[in-house]
Amino acid sequence: AKSPVRIAVTGAAGQIAYALVFRIASGALLGPDQPVILHLLDLPPMQGALKGVMMELEDCAFPALAGMVATDDPKTAFKDIDIGFLVGARPRGKGMERKDLLGANAEIFTVQGRALNEAAKRTARILVVGNPANTNAHIAMKSAPDLSPDCFSAMIRLDHNRAASMLAGKAGVAVDAIEKLVVWGNHSPTMYPDYRFAEANGRKLAEIIGDEAWNRDVFIPTVGKRGAAVIEARGASSAASAANAAIDQVRDWVVGSHGRWVSMAVASDGSYGIPEGIMFGVPVTTEAGTVTRIPDLAMDEFARERFALTLNELKEERDAVAHLLG
Ligand code: NDP
Repeated sequence: AKSPVRIAVTGAAGQIAYALVFRIASGALLGPDQPVILHLLDLPPMQGALKGVMMELEDCAFPALAGMVATDDPKTAFKDIDIGFLVGARPRGKGMERKDLLGANAEIFTVQGRALNEAAKRTARILVVGNPANTNAHIAMKSAPDLSPDCFSAMIRLDHNRAASMLAGKAGVAVDAIEKLVVWGNHSPTMYPDYRFAEANGRKLAEIIGDEAWNRDVFIPTVGKRGAAVIEARGASSAASAANAAIDQVRDWVVGSHGRWVSMAVASDGSYGIPEGIMFGVPVTTEAGTVTRIPDLAMDEFARERFALTLNELKEERDAVAHLLG
């Protein structure tokens, strides 16, 4: 039998986690024959609700669920983990400015980065979902100097999936026929969904769509505001689709994308003029925990503009938290 994989989920009593942990335990991440042990972290006042989630997990009788740990202590949560989903984050409160939001989260992700540094497996793969996800991932990475930067990424896959689905509808092709779609930058409304290189069934998607105005006036703004549109329609923020994207991103990361391009926010190696260490959504292929960036994609004037917009936002976020990092 395979030995169990230890998977931490933070914010484990929250909405996204509620859509995430059952799918992990059912085998949607690593397959139904891979035993998993869930390490569930949430704040002290949430331990009661977390207990309820664990009761439901038990009641599913998932064959692959080999154990559970519930805790409010990050070091316990991250002890010997192979995979971490960092979902819990401080939501924007009333009247809270961006600077305050960044600061509150910087504190959470400094503590969690240090705990990961101390307790996680050196090969761990850690996905940050909690917003501002890219900068939170940057902070966790900087707070974990003994872990390779390759251990960290931030979620941009929901934007990628949203873009893919919208393009499939517009072009009249199956969503899984779409290849070489890219989402650049920050998981925020500034991210740049870019289908200039995308193909479906051997044809360029841009040719099938043939409507450059639609790209600028409909596609990019709609993908950018999709999160807000879901909140407006549902009265609550996206949770199931966020959890699904987290699973997609980590599954591709640890299992492999089989040559397909996927978008991941990873610590920059300096390519595309992105300052080193900034967590920026880029196209990659993946294989067994290793990420290979797609290099040298051409930029036209419009692309450069969009790219700069999201990069500048991430630089500002990085600078705003710099003084909080040791
Ligand atoms: P959710 O589970 O709905 O969201 C969690 C985080 O994911 C938020 O930061 C949210 O950002 C983010 N997120 C990223 N992408 C998306 C997306 N596309 N759609 C929606 N959200 C997205 O929040 P809940 O409040 O239900 O649960 C959070 C849990 O985390 C609580 O149980 C809380 O106690 C816990 N927590 C734990 C901490 C810890 O363990 N140290 C610290 C802080 C919180 P956004 O806010 O922008 O929507």
